[in-house]
Amino acid sequence: CGIVAYVGHREACSIIIKGLKRLEYRGYDSAGVALMNGDLNVYKKKGKVSKLENYLTDKDTHGNIGMGHTRWATHGEPNDRNAHPHYSSSGKLAIIHNGIIENYATLKTLLIEKGHTFQSDTDSEVFINLIEDIKINSKCTLVEAVRLALHEVVGAYAIVVLSKDDPNQLVAARKGSPLVVGIGEGEHFLASDATPIIEYTSDVVYINDQEIVVIKDGELDIRSKEDVKQTPYIQRLELAL
Ligand code: GLU
Repeated sequence: CGIVAYVGHREACSIIIKGLKRLEYRGYDSAGVALMNGDLNVYKKKGKVSKLENYLTDKDTHGNIGMGHTRWATHGEPNDRNAHPHYSSSGKLAIIHNGIIENYATLKTLLIEKGHTFQSDTDSEVFINLIEDIKINSKCTLVEAVRLALHEVVGAYAIVVLSKDDPNQLVAARKGSPLVVGIGEGEHFLASDATPIIEYTSDVVYINDQEIVVIKDGELDIRSKEDVKQTPYIQRLELAL
């Protein structure tokens, strides 16, 4: 339902929580964050963002890169386990996902046969295990694995992926579900709409369908599903807060 991600020089967690609150108007049943701070930590709860915020008070939430999600359940009942983010089987990758993967049941059966394990009933957890499976079998980069996975999933999605092996990088993609990048000074934002971004920057790029976004070392790279580099079209928003 709602997506917020951040990489830059500030504490990611507070920006993400604030952003998730700005997306509350869309409705949701659970909320969660993944933060990179030496490890890839996932914290998630059924209920309001304020409940997640309370849960985080005694956790180590430091870190300059992270992502958060508010879920509106489509596959699997609303509970802590089905809330996003979801880890891959190895625990090295994590995903947040808006939308529906229509062929998730077929993919899940294949992935279970290959030894992947699942903690939730969601279609989203299938997506991240598919990405991990491709990454391991093709011995490719995460970005390449995400790109190849897009050719195998049927449905609608906006996703953000974090990897323990590449702790300074945000990877995202979309099809049929909106995704916006905000470009600040030495920082980038990702969100399902511009409302969490506008208080930090008015320079945004609306990601097109079937594009993959990589944000690393202060650089924004956008590629097509066929791996052709795209020139970002930066728009200046003139929205009053
Ligand atoms: N299909 C996913 C789920 O049920 C994502 C739902 C959403 O867009 O929030 O977990």
